[in-house]
Amino acid sequence: MPIVSSKAQIVDSEDIRAVVETLQSDWLTTGPQVEAFENDFASFVGAKEAVAVNSGTAALHASMAAIDIQPGDEVVVPAITFVATANAIVYEGGTPVFVDVDVETLLIDPQKIEEKITAKTKAIVAVDYAGQPCNYDALQAIAIKHNLFLIADACHAIGGVYKGKKVGTLADLNTFSFHPVKNITTGEGGMITTDNEKFAREMRCFRNHGIETDHHQRAQKGTWYYEQKILGFNYRLTDFQCALGRVQLKKLPAWIARRQKIARQFDQAFLNSGFVKPLTKNSEIIHAYHLYVVKLNFRDYSITREQVFTMLREKGVQVNVHYLPVYLHPFYREKYGAAKRLCPVAEQVYEEILSLPVSPSMSDTDVDFVIDQLFEF
Ligand SMILES: *Cc1c(COP(=O)(O)O)cnc(C)c1O
Repeated sequence: MPIVSSKAQIVDSEDIRAVVETLQSDWLTTGPQVEAFENDFASFVGAKEAVAVNSGTAALHASMAAIDIQPGDEVVVPAITFVATANAIVYEGGTPVFVDVDVETLLIDPQKIEEKITAKTKAIVAVDYAGQPCNYDALQAIAIKHNLFLIADACHAIGGVYKGKKVGTLADLNTFSFHPVKNITTGEGGMITTDNEKFAREMRCFRNHGIETDHHQRAQKGTWYYEQKILGFNYRLTDFQCALGRVQLKKLPAWIARRQKIARQFDQAFLNSGFVKPLTKNSEIIHAYHLYVVKLNFRDYSITREQVFTMLREKGVQVNVHYLPVYLHPFYREKYGAAKRLCPVAEQVYEEILSLPVSPSMSDTDVDFVIDQLFEF
């Protein structure tokens, strides 16, 4: 029985060699690999600065701290995303304001943002859902008009492009995750890219307890003295993880190309299907295909998602559902009294979606197997 993509990450002997070499070096954390990974990453996306942290969640939190979110501030987020997007706002005392998504792409619907903007709104978080860059022209226009920061939760979208500009350069702050399910991995890990040097400096301080110099810098200067300037956290990424990240990053272009090829194979198969409808891919973008999400026509085929999900999992196909609208989680219901029907499109689409496995390690035969299993219904 084939098992399609239960192991998300690809780690080879080159990755292992890089990690082992760093483990044998003088620095296990906050050493030369951190800066090297930051430089590699910044030049990969074409941003001035990249700041490494120990998760995508920490990247979002550091971004909220950089734009100085305070209790009472409101931040616009799409209804459909991973909970961490909204949690990062709450960490700084801010209030997430949920906006509905576009029915075809599940990206935040720019037309529904302005009605949610108040005097307290400070920022918009765009989530490049499934790896597809949002409509950044529309989002930038709204941000400029209302004097808001634009933050990209690009945790799905490393390797994506919008109108010739790489993901990582499309917002004031752009956040990435290197969890094993993401397009490249460091085990756990994250990154923020920005052209704003002040933000970058503040986030390097934030990830290190609010202390301006780090251990490596003090060793180089031969000093012991340091001062804590702000309340920060320990969000540091280790040197051996950064060494892994550098090797992974080199492989990303080939992996994105493979993800796109898999997506085309799915697209072709579902072209005339009445049951399986892939999300729409916009023009003028390169999709990073972290996920391949389809909407299933359960009504006409009198079958439930639970049945489809269970049967595919039993066949070894690692399908998933991304995501329950964030405000329907008990934490948000109880804390913010979020009512049903707040974002009707998100709630409706949530019932229909299924994420198919997509990973560079899948063969054409694996992809055909997934397609055949779906057509069984
Ligand atoms: C994975 C993910 C995060 C959180 O990243 P971690 O590295 O797991 O903390 C945030 N937002 C989105 C959209 C994600 O997919």
